[in-house]
Amino acid sequence: MKGSDPVGGRGGAASHEGDCAGQAVPQTASRTMSVPNATVAGAVTSAAAGASTTAATGRPPTSDPPKPASPRTASTKQPASARELARAVREMNEDARGARREGRALARAQRLDWLERSVLGHRMPSATALLQMAAWRRDDLDAYCGRCGTTRAPFEDLRRGCGECRDRRSLVRGLRLGGVVRLGRYAPPLSQWVPAIKQRAWRDMGVIMGTELGQQVKQAILEGRIARPDCVVSVPVHWLRRTLRGIDHCAVLADEVARVIEVPRAWPIRARLAHRQTGGDRSVRNANRGRYAARRGGLKAGFRRILLVDDVRTTGATVREASAVLAELGATELLLAVCAAADPPRRSAIGFVGGPDPLDDLQ
Ligand SMILES: [Zn+2]
Repeated sequence: MKGSDPVGGRGGAASHEGDCAGQAVPQTASRTMSVPNATVAGAVTSAAAGASTTAATGRPPTSDPPKPASPRTASTKQPASARELARAVREMNEDARGARREGRALARAQRLDWLERSVLGHRMPSATALLQMAAWRRDDLDAYCGRCGTTRAPFEDLRRGCGECRDRRSLVRGLRLGGVVRLGRYAPPLSQWVPAIKQRAWRDMGVIMGTELGQQVKQAILEGRIARPDCVVSVPVHWLRRTLRGIDHCAVLADEVARVIEVPRAWPIRARLAHRQTGGDRSVRNANRGRYAARRGGLKAGFRRILLVDDVRTTGATVREASAVLAELGATELLLAVCAAADPPRRSAIGFVGGPDPLDDLQ
């Protein structure tokens, strides 16, 4: 009984002081302010129960667990300084603002999506019928260089890349180019169909080309030509341009690719409003540097190997700029999927590109 806690004693004393238990409770509580809530509650209950004097003293000590250590540690702990608190609050507010901004961006994207599907982009013929009429088939994976997407020259050895990319360094420092997948050379009919997805908001064709590209990527993964990506990213377009066009063509392609290969989509890059790229010569394109920036929130922690989806690869300037942002965000490997890849002019100069595919004669 000597080891009984002081709280129980105090509760008993309090019940003596007051005329009834109801008055005794606040006094007890005020006296035991320094001890933690559990002990206060114990005191209160003991005081409330202790209407008779014997109830408090006759209580077994084991029923109320003594906690001498916890109040001491609570009192010795330094209170957080005002500056730390302010910083925590500021960070919380910042996070909340970021989340709200993300939410607004998502809502805007959904509205634009609805606008595209319901109002715009219903002016083109059926892409399915056109593809069947043209008897078009996507390239064999051996028909092009898996490092840069250039059409393979007859009997060209592609084990260490083609003649165009063998000596070339990576696009961006710190970002490994894991491989390129393409549907075909930038030549008719792809050179007519693919730009029309963008220019004429041909969503129908975009979905079909995206599905084909997804199947091409899937096959490349299955054959071990490229590694499985962590996420699929589309080359972004500024929302104003997207609204004017009525379609975010790369997003349409990337959505389909992600669906076919069953890999999550991500939107780590945003586009700045810059000059039109189509039709501009190389100097204009160089002047448009900094067209892309990292979106708030960036890249998810586990996303290191990125599959970037673009409609056409010509000089590689777009990919270089977009991948620079990806490298900034912590990506380590880039895979590229394009509908059509333009061969370097060097190859067309020797009469290799432009005519019928030389591989057709070999097969
Ligand atoms: Zn190559």
